[in-house]
Formats: sequence, C-alpha cells, structure tokens
Amino acid sequence: PTAPPRRSICELPDELISQIAAGEVVERPASVVRELVDNALDAGAGQIQLKLLAGGVRSLVVEDDGCGIPDSELPLAIKRHATSKIRSLDELEAVATMGFRGEALAAVSSVAELALVSRFDGAPHAWRLDARSGELSPAARSRGTSVEVRELFFNTPARRKFLKSEGTELGHCLEALRRHALARPDVGFTVWHEGKLVDQWRASSLAQRVAEVLNEDFVSQSREVMAEVGPLRIHGRVGLPEAARSRADMQYVYVNGRYVRDKLIAHAIRSAFDDVLHGQRQPSYVLFIDITPELVDVNVHPTKIEVRFRDGREIHQQVRRAVVAALALSRTSDGVTDDL
Ligand code: ADP
Ligand code: MG
Repeated sequence: PTAPPRRSICELPDELISQIAAGEVVERPASVVRELVDNALDAGAGQIQLKLLAGGVRSLVVEDDGCGIPDSELPLAIKRHATSKIRSLDELEAVATMGFRGEALAAVSSVAELALVSRFDGAPHAWRLDARSGELSPAARSRGTSVEVRELFFNTPARRKFLKSEGTELGHCLEALRRHALARPDVGFTVWHEGKLVDQWRASSLAQRVAEVLNEDFVSQSREVMAEVGPLRIHGRVGLPEAARSRADMQYVYVNGRYVRDKLIAHAIRSAFDDVLHGQRQPSYVLFIDITPELVDVNVHPTKIEVRFRDGREIHQQVRRAVVAALALSRTSDGVTDDL
C-alpha cells in the first residue's frame, strides 16, 4: 500500500484543541451534569437545581447557591486549564475538590452554547457572560451561579448523532445526579424536565437520602458498613444477600467523595459475599472510602471515574473485611433493621 503524501506539522487552532479535549469529558448531556454539579459542590452549594429540556440536549441548566464567581474572573472560568482549585503539583497531590483540571467549562463551551450567570458573595448584582461573544452584562440573581448549556453538539453533528432518545439521555442525566445526591445527603437537589418537577431530595441523613434516591427497601434490606483503619475510613450501606439483584445497577462506590468505577473495590465487596451470593446475582451497595489524598491518584482519567491506589492490596483487604463484618452482624440480628 502506498502511504498518503506527507503533510507538514501544524499547530492546531485553540477551538479545535478544545473540541478534541471535549471528546474525553463530554460524551452526552449526563457528562455535562456531572461536571456542572461537581462545580456547584466545589463552590459550597447547599441547594442545586437541574433544569432540562429534551433530555438535556436542547437545554441543560444547573443553578447553585454557592460562592459565585467575581465578574473579573468570569472570562477565565471558561478558559482551558484555568482553575481556582490548584496552583501547584503539591496541591494536585492533596486535592480535596471535585475539580482541578480547569477544563470542563472550556470543553462544554466548545461543543455547546454556554452562558454563565453568577453573583459573587457580596456583589451588588449578578453578571452574565455569553461564552461565544465574550460579552459581559449585568444580570439579576441571588448569590451563586447558573450555568446554561444549550444545543449540545450543535457544531459537531457527527457527535450529536451518537446521542440516544430524549428519554435515554434524561435517564443518564438522572443517574449522574443520583451519584452526586448519594454522596452529598447534606445538599438539597431538585431536578426539572420540560418544566415538570422530576425529583426533589431535601438535605438529610445518608439513610434517608438512600431511601429516597434508590428505594425504601434498600435501607431495610441493607446493613451499615463502618470501619476505620489508619488513614482509611470505609462507611456506607451494603445490601443483604437476599436483596441481591440480577443487574449491577445499584453499586455506588466513592473515593474521597468522588464516584468511581473500580474493579479492585468491586471485587473486594463481591468476595465478601463469597459463598452466600450465587451465580450471577449482583450485590447492591453505597460505599464511601475515605483515604489520605496522598495515598490515591485521582489524576488517571479525564472524567476522574478511575483512581489508582498506592496500596491496592491493603484497600482490597480492608474493604472486604469491612463488608464481611457488616454482613456477619446481619446474620445474628434476626433480620431486625439496624437503627438508621
Ligand atoms: P475546574 O472545576 O477543574 O476548576 P471548570 O472548567 O469546571 O474547572 O471551572 C473553572 C473554574 O470556574 C473553577 O475553578 C471555578 O473557580 C469556577 N466555577 C465553575 N463553576 C462554578 C460554580 N458553579 N460556582 C463557582 N465557581 C465556579
Ligand atoms: Mg469543574
């Protein structure tokens, strides 16, 4: 085969760089939900609202009552690699915020129409930044930030074609919100679709939040997990073997507050069930693993859905042990529900 003629090396325009980078983090409306809710939580929000039109494709708005962004920094917020969350490698290694890459808003603005409306703590009024025109104008809202995302992938039609039906995209958006809601029962969440209230979860305890977000039965059919070993704290709820499901659709693992998919942890939990879970039955759980940030690398995946532990064996062993202990308790408790 003959190679195509060589073309000279050129630097890509910024816009295209952002669109390529966006491919890694923005796959569908649910990815935008994940990024915007991360930002709202990092801003210290106590209430977060998600408003969707057409499964989030036509319009996706996240409103929070967090600290806001000063007008002088609004243009920076949508610039690539611009962040208020880290300043140095040391800070990256100890990062406690959900975000740190300074990429999400830039990525979203390269594949959708984006506007930020924000009122910084103590500012006399809000400001609105239209990402496309760069225009800043006075606006009205209380303290906090609204991020408005319209017509996702309008300028990348090939990617827009990959989107599924409105109902499917809505489902993914709701699942993204559930992941956050389970991790932050202290924060209130409201979600609207086409002007109709879909879900509302008021700030409450973990058990209450789990009951509302997953289902009432999960709480009575699960046991509390609680273990502390050195720099490691494992807590949450794990479903009893009887409550195992045919699908792995109720498995939530968080490392330092961030939802992750981790084979090692999934395996550790599964192995705790050992002989009591038959065949393809899937355990259900909501498990939080908190560990000194220096002992886990969160910068291995653009969406941060994967992490790398410095000592995976130790994590595996402790998670397994914690879940075994929780399940053993249930066998001697005559099925009596734990105190929530
Ligand atoms: P990152 O979250 O990694 O810093 P983003 O692109 O998501 O990058 O956001 C860029 C910056 O914009 C953040 O560092 C933060 O300072 C600011 N920002 C974004 N969303 C909000 C929000 N909802 N409230 C306050 N500040 C925000
Ligand atoms: Mg962010």
